Amino acid sequence: MKNMSPIIPVSDPNCQVKSWKNLLKSAIKDPIQLLSEIGLEPTDLNFPIAENTGFAVRVPQPFIDKMQLGNPQDPLLLQVLSQQAENLAVAGYTNDPLEEHASSAPGILHKYHGRVLLMLASACAVNCRYCFRRHFPYQDKVASGKQLQQSIDYISEHQEISEVILSGGDPLMVSDSQLSLLLSQLNQIPHLKRLRIHTRLPVVIPQRITQELCNILATSHLNVSMVLHINHANEIDELFTSSVKKLRDSGIQLFNQSVLLKDINDNVSVLAQLSEQLFAAYIVPYYIHLLDKVAGAAHFDIPKAQAIELVEALRNRLPGYLVPRLAIEEPGEKAKTIIA
Ligand SMILES: *Cc1c(COP(=O)(O)O)cnc(C)c1O
Ligand code: SF4
Repeated sequence: MKNMSPIIPVSDPNCQVKSWKNLLKSAIKDPIQLLSEIGLEPTDLNFPIAENTGFAVRVPQPFIDKMQLGNPQDPLLLQVLSQQAENLAVAGYTNDPLEEHASSAPGILHKYHGRVLLMLASACAVNCRYCFRRHFPYQDKVASGKQLQQSIDYISEHQEISEVILSGGDPLMVSDSQLSLLLSQLNQIPHLKRLRIHTRLPVVIPQRITQELCNILATSHLNVSMVLHINHANEIDELFTSSVKKLRDSGIQLFNQSVLLKDINDNVSVLAQLSEQLFAAYIVPYYIHLLDKVAGAAHFDIPKAQAIELVEALRNRLPGYLVPRLAIEEPGEKAKTIIA
């Protein structure tokens, strides 16, 4: 008789939780290995890759699974593969383009009226090469342990705050039990109305949307929304869509913000397809950002005039609710500047 393969218990309640954490741990950190996962070698590319840029490569497997095999121009690959252009110093590109270095309390950034950013985690599941926080001194900024209590006190003492925006890093890097604890404290602050989570984790590891996470968010009496970060329609696959549907079924409003990136989504058909696929996944296109001028990201830049043209062309093609607002973040401003 043949050996039977081991039977995997399908009803293990920890199964999904273990799996997102394992996927996080086993993320690819070597650019050459990343290329080989999709059948490429460095010589297939028309630019030199970099092994050391001071900002690590980090790409979880479910995101790699959405890349096209053998395509050196793959729009997902280009977002996460380190290249030597990152090491060039370019005039006008700095380490802290938004001048975010002043905080009001540990882990708190109170620059928008009525809203505070609460930095929960110091890392992300993926390292996007164009990230405006690639040089951010997270160690000094993230709220944890005793400091988190100080952040909560700050929110309690400021009556004018009606919305808490969980940010990071990626706030969904923290465990469901930590989130549950935080939510139970925020739920007790009477002047708070809304909770928003800015995250890319469900895009790169859809398994992060656990039933427990949905339950924690659904039982809060705050109005909960989630702002995802997707730049190209290829990031939206069946696993992702079925995962975010659980959030929507739990009463969570879903929005998306993108960054306009050279050779990735600087094309009206690509942007139209992104908006349509987002909507099919229950997500409303909210913002599209001009690149923040962070050192190491100059090769992704799109001139402002071209960005305006792109968004206007999109407006001629799609219903208004599928056209994201073209925004730019200016240091010291109380809100984003909308340019189209
Ligand atoms: C724009 C932005 C906000 C504020 O968003 P609004 O939707 O304009 O209130 C908060 N956090 C981050 C990271 C943002 O980019
Ligand atoms: S997920 Fe967001 S914060 Fe994290 S590296 Fe990417 S762009 Fe930056």
